[in-house]
Amino acid sequence: MGEGYHHFSIETVGDGVYVAIPDGGSNAGIVNLGDKTLIFDTFTTIGPARELKKAAERLTGRPPSLVINSHAHADHYQGNVVFADDAILIASIKTRNAIAEEGLFRLERMKNSMMEQANSLRKKLGQTSNENEKIQLDAILNEYDEFFEDYPHPKDIRLPVLIFEQSLTFQGSRRMAKLMTFGGAHSPCDAVLWLPDEKILFAGDLIIPNDNLILSQGNPENWLPILKQLEALGPTIIVPGHRGIIPADEGFAWARYYLNYVTDLADELSPCGNSTVSLEDLAAPPGCRHNWFIQNMDFLIKRHSLN
Ligand SMILES: [Zn+2]
Repeated sequence: MGEGYHHFSIETVGDGVYVAIPDGGSNAGIVNLGDKTLIFDTFTTIGPARELKKAAERLTGRPPSLVINSHAHADHYQGNVVFADDAILIASIKTRNAIAEEGLFRLERMKNSMMEQANSLRKKLGQTSNENEKIQLDAILNEYDEFFEDYPHPKDIRLPVLIFEQSLTFQGSRRMAKLMTFGGAHSPCDAVLWLPDEKILFAGDLIIPNDNLILSQGNPENWLPILKQLEALGPTIIVPGHRGIIPADEGFAWARYYLNYVTDLADELSPCGNSTVSLEDLAAPPGCRHNWFIQNMDFLIKRHSLN
């Protein structure tokens, strides 16, 4: 992608504040504190995480020594292994525990299921005499091989070692950064990074502009109250967990619009209301992928509503 980077493009959000934005996956922040370099989230796989480390060195003149995981979802912590030898890994206590409890299990399950898929394709390749199909299966199996090479193994799980409950402040020679959590909405615990002088907020997956918020793995009833607390900080720029950087007012407006859209719809369709409509027929908010929208709707209807 852009500026000589392979896995992402780098956007400068402020003097010494950068975001690595991949095409589709989760974002990662690079913050030059002046005497230290801080990373916010580490991607899903090893190749992009390695490149993130290199980008941080290139942009700040030193390797990162502080590495944060905003929350316990694979695309925000599985790159930890690349940084663990040189940096302090940091997360909230709930996030650290969720990675410890579920991360290893999830990696093993994912790897086993991919192995099974690859084995059945290999079997198919051995049985077919159709040349076109052979070429196609070969190409798919190559992709699987690349995946196995780049995807962390269960032994690559690296847990945060510096743990906070509510907040942790980094006072660098050039700027201050505050890591804090107001609880869990998208995940068991969502942390944000706040740069008070620049009014930049790294919001993690609490804000994903013009796309689905993912509601089914946390406590969505906390979402609106948390947004209120984030807004009270007074940010002007939001770095979301996915998608591009956005003016703060637009980021908050989108998150509220999305939450209200799906909860109003779920209230309408909840078992006491109209239950004859098929979920597949529901229209997602503009720009949102249908599969994640349906998953949210299914989750909300089963819970009746956020309230
Ligand atoms: Zn997430």
